[in-house]
Formats: sequence, structure tokens, C-alpha cells
Amino acid sequence: MADVLYISHRWTQQDWMSQVACTGQTQHFFPPHGEQADAREKREAVANAICQACEVRIDCRDYARENREQGFWGGENDDQRMDIRRKTRARTMLTSPVRMDDIALEA
Ligand code: SF4
Repeated sequence: MADVLYISHRWTQQDWMSQVACTGQTQHFFPPHGEQADAREKREAVANAICQACEVRIDCRDYARENREQGFWGGENDDQRMDIRRKTRARTMLTSPVRMDDIALEA
């Protein structure tokens, strides 16, 4: 039997990627080396305007959140995705029951 190589969906083309509104506009979605805050704000404003008119924005946003992408995806930048992750983690901790097995006791 031949060996089979399974590739994570992370590295495969997603269906929604054929409908993106940002083709050929990479410069608005990824920062150049050493980008300053003002330039970043302007670049991301352009990217966001493109994203808001994109038919696959939610798919794109969720994909970037799940795969910890870098750059501007689905109307969100890195900081916004990190903030969402932090809030989601905090909410999960608040709503998850604590089991005694999970608590490490020091002697
Ligand atoms: S939401 Fe934005 S980054 Fe995502 S595919 Fe659409 S235009 Fe591109």
C-alpha cells in the first residue's frame, strides 16, 4: 500500500478564495518592512474599504482567525484578531467548569 500524505486544509486552496475582491492588491493587505503607524493606518483603511465590499469577507475573516494569519484579512488586522482570541479565551475560561483534577496543588 502506498504511503499517503495528508495536507492540512491550512495549506490548500479554499472554495471562497476564487471570489476575493483583493486580487492583485497585496500591497494594501500586508505591511512593508518598517511601516510606520500613520502609513499603516492609511493602508489598512484602503484594505478595509475593499474588504467591506467583498462577498467572502466572513469566510476570509474566520479563516484568518482560525489559522492565525498575519496581515489584513476579512476586515481585521493582526491586533484585532489577537484581541478576539484573547476575549474568546477569557470567555471560555469563565464559562468552563473547573475540575479538581485541573487544579495543581503545591505541597
Ligand atoms: S475580505 Fe478582504 S482580504 Fe478577505 S478576500 Fe475579501 S477583500 Fe480579500
